[in-house]
Amino acid sequence: MGLDLIRYTKVIKKNPYIKVLFSFGAIFNYLSGIMRVFDKINELKEYLAIQKEKGLNVGFVPTMGALHQGHISLIDISRKETDITVCSIFVNPTQFNNKADLTHYPRTPETDIALLQKAGCDALYMPDVKDVYPENDKRTFTFGYLDTILEAAHRPGHFNGVGQVVSILLEGIKPDKAYFGSKDYQQVMVVKSLVKQLNLAVEIIACPILREPDGLAMSSRNTRLNAQERLVAAFVPKMMQEAINLVKSTGIDAAKDYITNYVKEQPLMKLDYYEVCDAETLEPLTSFDASQKAISLIAVFVGNVRLIDNWPVN
Ligand code: AMP
Repeated sequence: MGLDLIRYTKVIKKNPYIKVLFSFGAIFNYLSGIMRVFDKINELKEYLAIQKEKGLNVGFVPTMGALHQGHISLIDISRKETDITVCSIFVNPTQFNNKADLTHYPRTPETDIALLQKAGCDALYMPDVKDVYPENDKRTFTFGYLDTILEAAHRPGHFNGVGQVVSILLEGIKPDKAYFGSKDYQQVMVVKSLVKQLNLAVEIIACPILREPDGLAMSSRNTRLNAQERLVAAFVPKMMQEAINLVKSTGIDAAKDYITNYVKEQPLMKLDYYEVCDAETLEPLTSFDASQKAISLIAVFVGNVRLIDNWPVN
């Protein structure tokens, strides 16, 4: 389930800071630079229509909340490149193929709002499920080859759900540019394909991955790791680096063997996949040719938490 509005309203009532954000009124908010928070797409559309009439262009950063600096880096890039930055926080039920993952997905609306306000985000869309899906979304999207590999192969239906929510958000908000993290490498390709198929007038910008000091890719799911799991999770970027060395020196099979054996020796880890792919097409490679841009991608469970990461090989 997405954000429950009743629970959310309680959060707002409990937190005087958020209450202030909601109660000051539109004009004051606009004049004072306080972020506008919307839970209805129609109200957000009205606000954006006024901005667009003024000739301002719009950047959009879709998220599922539990925000960290990786998300904020997308807000920063949008703010540099566009006049008005809109963020959305919506835990999209249709993209979760695993019910437990959806139930346990972290939700931190109070800190999210404070972080976005501090980052200078102009508007936040924080709907409940009914506002995004007034009716069940029965649409199916096909992304060709991208539907058959990596995340698509391991999370059946995931990208269809991504296609549903991203199309609804992009068609509602109609941003000039939308910002996605390269951490979800395949997702960026899926979204580009979606935009092409639906002929949407939006530029999709792929942004760099932000990492913790020990190299672990920032992720909302990291907050679900206990202390021991967090230590083990730090091995992910390290083994990815070592595997890249092996791809270049010995070959892709050696790198795959190394990752498989490394994970086997870690009782808290379970490998979902590790592949070295063509960076443009995501076609898995069996041999490495330095003239071809390659990317290594991993999905690995640490405890019950599924982490994904990717590193360019060259
Ligand atoms: P999520 O809330 O996980 O759906 O992520 C929302 C957006 O933030 C997606 O486009 C992600 O790829 C992006 N993102 C997540 N983690 C990072 C990160 N560590 N660095 C950069 N972007 C990220």
